[in-house]
Amino acid sequence: MQSAAQVDLIKELSLAVGAAHVLVDDDLRAAYEVDWTGRYQGPCNAVVRPNSVEEVAAVIRICALYDVTLVPQAGNTGLVGGSVPRPARPGARSAIVMSLTRLTRLGRVDTAAMQVTAEAGVTLTTWRESAHNAGLDTPVDFAARDTATIGGAIATNAGGSRVLRFGTMRRQVVGIEAVTAKGAIVGSLDGLPKETAGLHWPSLLAGSEGTLAVITAARLRLVPWFQHTATALVAVKSIESGIRLLAALRQSVTSLDAVEVIAPAAMRLVSDHIGQPPPVSSPEAALYVMVDCADHSDPSEQLLDVLSQADGIVDSAITTDAVQRKRLVAFRDRITEAIAAASTEVGVPTFKLDVAVPLDALGDLIKAAQGAADADGCRLVPFGHLAEGNLHLNHIGASHPERLANTVLSAVASLGGTISAEHGIGVAKVPWMSLIRNPAELDAQAAIRAALDPADMLNPGVLHPQVT
Ligand SMILES: Cc1cc2nc3c(=O)[nH]c(=O)nc-3n(C[C@H](O)[C@H](O)[C@H](O)COP(=O)(O)OP(=O)(O)OC[C@H]3O[C@@H](n4cnc5c(N)ncnc54)[C@H](O)[C@@H]3O)c2cc1C
Repeated sequence: MQSAAQVDLIKELSLAVGAAHVLVDDDLRAAYEVDWTGRYQGPCNAVVRPNSVEEVAAVIRICALYDVTLVPQAGNTGLVGGSVPRPARPGARSAIVMSLTRLTRLGRVDTAAMQVTAEAGVTLTTWRESAHNAGLDTPVDFAARDTATIGGAIATNAGGSRVLRFGTMRRQVVGIEAVTAKGAIVGSLDGLPKETAGLHWPSLLAGSEGTLAVITAARLRLVPWFQHTATALVAVKSIESGIRLLAALRQSVTSLDAVEVIAPAAMRLVSDHIGQPPPVSSPEAALYVMVDCADHSDPSEQLLDVLSQADGIVDSAITTDAVQRKRLVAFRDRITEAIAAASTEVGVPTFKLDVAVPLDALGDLIKAAQGAADADGCRLVPFGHLAEGNLHLNHIGASHPERLANTVLSAVASLGGTISAEHGIGVAKVPWMSLIRNPAELDAQAAIRAALDPADMLNPGVLHPQVT
């Protein structure tokens, strides 16, 4: 039964965006109340689907007036619980989910500036298609590309496979438009590559995970479209051989696009999931390294040169053929999906830790993570982005996730690493922020949030402990 205030709130929201875009029925809200992993969920009063920056601002003002919290959500592919409401607690304010998926307008590609303006709900795939239509490409790519959005990728400062060449999402944002918790529209979409005029909104909002403002559009950098790609899958004897291979590739292969890492446990899982044997294998394989090179002409010569001289390689496959490449890349792209299927089988959502350490500490991290998984009795499935020392540690059937997180994240911090490389802090890692940020840094971050959102309305509990 709704209170009178809740009825009024829904009425006002319906006036702002149209009744058809305020979802209140249980079955319509359900998909917005649980995250991709199935680990994080919480109830909301309604899901509101604005269609313009003005409607976003109106919804925010209404939420402020009724003292409800607001959870920005887009593709809902986030893996740290930030895109869905917090679990219900006695005395806690109720939540509204704001879905940004109707903001899908894309501007004309400016080929001279190599930029395009996209609304927040445009998916990475649509962004890429628009770039390709203009003979250009996008600098960010990862497996959730068909659903993950521009707004979500900026809010989480997403990474993916091309970070080695082009940097994370933060580097791609040359302009931004957003609405603060006070309902103010801020930023600019002019896309000036040079401007030194005080506060830089893209820098402030990239990685803010929906806690400082709702992003409604962005002016994005594009990159040349290298239509010739060579992909190699290489089995190496040890993590050290993998890192030496990375160094040789960086030194000599100018077309290097991605260097990814797949542990044997991940290779076995994805191979079973897609029903195909691993394209390379050897009893001696300690790790698999997947390398992408992309250029305006066939880049395989440079790549083959490096592979033929590298030590520690026990098997390898290389292709430039589009169909075969797709098959090879599936062994990287479909790991997360394979993990989700395995977790459905065991009946417990996978416990995921996305971490990064300096490259020379990667071996120690893998040892520490395996030790923690063995002690828990769960199955560890690591894979990730080798060039950034970034591992996704997936624990299938974990019995004590908190204990695992304590052990692994403490090890990461003591190795000079970070508790979140690209997925964000969300609600999942808030308790461990003090491992990598000192009290002064946490105070400063809280002060910035309080200045923009004094009522703690936007995504409370994400990045910071929840106050009310
Ligand atoms: C199969 C798979 C593979 C993945 N691979 C990678 C990878 O390689 N690299 C990587 O970085 N991530 C990866 N992810 C994680 C995820 O896709 C990214 O975090 C992505 O950026 C989330 O985008 P989204 O649109 O789904 O955002 P959501 O999941 O809806 O939201 C994520 C966070 O951003 C906030 N947010 C969303 N939209 C806005 C907005 N417009 N304004 C303000 N805040 C907003 C939300 O409140 C939430 O805190 C993967 C996920 C899956 C399922």
